[in-house]
Amino acid sequence: MRYIYADNSATTAISPTVLEKMMPVLTEYYGNPSSLYRIGGKAKEILENSRENIAKNLGAANANEIYFTSGGSESDNWALKGVCRALKAKGKKHIITSKFEHHAILHTCQTLEKEGFEVTYLDVYENGIVHPEDVENAIREDTAIVSIMYANNEIGTIQPITEIGAICKKHKVIFHTDAVQAAGYVKINVQEQNIDMLSMTAHKLHGPKGIGLLYVRRGIRLENLIDGGAQERNKRAGTENVAGVVGLDAALQEAVDTMDERREHLEKLRDRLIDGLLKIERSRVNGDRVHRLPGNVNMCFEGIEGESLLLRLDMNGISASSGSACTSGSLDPSHVLLAIGLPHEIAHGSMRLTFSAELTDEDVDYMLEVIPQVVTYLRNMSPLWEKIKKQEAQEALNK
Ligand SMILES: *Cc1c(COP(=O)(O)O)cnc(C)c1O
Repeated sequence: MRYIYADNSATTAISPTVLEKMMPVLTEYYGNPSSLYRIGGKAKEILENSRENIAKNLGAANANEIYFTSGGSESDNWALKGVCRALKAKGKKHIITSKFEHHAILHTCQTLEKEGFEVTYLDVYENGIVHPEDVENAIREDTAIVSIMYANNEIGTIQPITEIGAICKKHKVIFHTDAVQAAGYVKINVQEQNIDMLSMTAHKLHGPKGIGLLYVRRGIRLENLIDGGAQERNKRAGTENVAGVVGLDAALQEAVDTMDERREHLEKLRDRLIDGLLKIERSRVNGDRVHRLPGNVNMCFEGIEGESLLLRLDMNGISASSGSACTSGSLDPSHVLLAIGLPHEIAHGSMRLTFSAELTDEDVDYMLEVIPQVVTYLRNMSPLWEKIKKQEAQEALNK
């Protein structure tokens, strides 16, 4: 049976060339970068070379604006908590974000609300895109930071980051973006786009898990999140994950080098898949179809449960995710789908497929065969679907 891993927004397979670059760091240059002897010095050199190259790939002015962390969640926590706690004494107590951020941002905002900060959660409308003028209208005297994600992890919509950056610059408010889903998939230049802070993680772009970074523009004051040793210029303690950093660097470099061809390849296949699946009655695409990550397909099929859909897809060799996967255990539909205005019962029947560049035309043919069958199978035993069809018949009669 064909196997299609279609959950690359949850995590990706490590690229063989990335792994190859990491291996010597794990086996030969395993020294602690803070040590003064030779293999410590070598590890330090490797670390700083990667920092330089990553800074270049993100368009940062200086390598020492890059701070390595354990991943996207830590970077998001640090950006918001670090800035807000540093600016509180100046009377800045307001945060602007959006309703469909990752929980690493939303739950951090909740913590800060308990500490006395006020948060404005901007609407993302039906197409899943923040309006820059809403950001501008929400800015107050006491706004400490604006945090808007670059691309959404569920519906893949790409936000007008350059416009939001310009607005924040004009009003002298710090602008952070969670670029975990965007880095390596869309062009990013923190200087040109007026991004003051940016979070990313390696494992969403074929790098290893447990390593990420926070870009912090020079001059921004930020409290530490992890106290301890003097690593990362006294800002983030803990022995450096040198192999991880090398993996992050290699993964970003590979992604940047192949970005255009991957985008072209994936967009073509993605659009063919979406067009095909839209032929299923009572189906819809979630999020803007144009301003969308190349490998993201997110759709709803009325009358079925996302979870049962996933299980049937898994039986057919397709690893997908449903809108509520991140909150597995809870039956609440995804906060992202609710934020774009989907009613609960429709949001429940959602499916997210996120592809890597390995996706082929044959994979798409296979999914176009299997998914409609599975949807029909599940609808045939769904009381909800029966109700929808009865209602439909009634409406036809009434006409
Ligand atoms: C995956 C993800 C995170 C969390 O990153 P980790 O490295 O897994 O902690 C944060 N934000 C977004 C948008 C994500 O997709």
